[in-house]
Amino acid sequence: MNIIHDVTELQSIVKNIKHSGKSIGFVPTMGFLHEGHLTLVKEAKKQTDVVVMSIFVNPMQFGPNEDFDQYPRDLDRDRELAEKAGVDFLFVPSVDTMYNNSLSTVLKVEKRVNVLCGRKREGHFDGVVTIVTKLFNIVQPDKAFFGMKDAQQVAVIESLVEDYFLPVEIIRVPTVREEDGLAKSSRNVNLTELERIEAPHLYKGLRLAQEEIANGEKDSSKIIEMVKTYIESNTSGTIDYIEMYAYPELTNLSVIHGEALLAIAVKFSGARLIDNIIIKE
Ligand code: AMP
Repeated sequence: MNIIHDVTELQSIVKNIKHSGKSIGFVPTMGFLHEGHLTLVKEAKKQTDVVVMSIFVNPMQFGPNEDFDQYPRDLDRDRELAEKAGVDFLFVPSVDTMYNNSLSTVLKVEKRVNVLCGRKREGHFDGVVTIVTKLFNIVQPDKAFFGMKDAQQVAVIESLVEDYFLPVEIIRVPTVREEDGLAKSSRNVNLTELERIEAPHLYKGLRLAQEEIANGEKDSSKIIEMVKTYIESNTSGTIDYIEMYAYPELTNLSVIHGEALLAIAVKFSGARLIDNIIIKE
């Protein structure tokens, strides 16, 4: 596995790969790798010839009071895990490299953004589409792999690709979980011991809702209320949101039909966790 820090160097590698007729699979991450990230790599290896992973904790997608400084980082460990998983090129740029100057042209997300994390984290998705566009332009992937744990991110990036005719296919990868159901996340290490015990209740609450819907409940406000009661009685976290929308449009859905996203964010003392399920009629 090659580790690359420099944009020009990666661009010249990409040029050679393209020239040889091989396809490129891209897995963008913020590092502190876990089984979720590695599943994206596995999928990329199945579907493309050469796999590029990036590790970059993107300051632009963190708000002023968010956990940019506390975000866990361990490049040595990541390097080993990425290599074992079969990543061919690991791109690890510095903040200076990616944001050398202030931007002369900005990208601003207008749709699919005033809900869920987009509403709670102002500017977050502007930061996400900015870095993803920069990375797509450098890596020029045929396919890019994103986890459905960040379902709103997938919806926003799919719109970006469509709006700007970006020549990349977005592949949705299902959420990878711990045995107790907790969605794998780099932030889980920042939970206290007690919070780690409580955290699987996010998924349990979502599963309860899923059962209720399978049993015929169609009223999304009743479902949301049920999950709220469940989370409040089973965790010490503070609910940031529990919302339900049509997916991937993220439009309102009072009566559940078609493909629906039920998503939750809960703030614990050490980390804010998100999780979701897609419910298909
Ligand atoms: P992050 O490093 O948190 O920015 O995540 C990088 C990519 O990995 C994103 O596409 C995430 O959605 C994906 N990802 C993170 N956690 C998981 C998980 N538990 N299962 C599947 N994909 C994940």
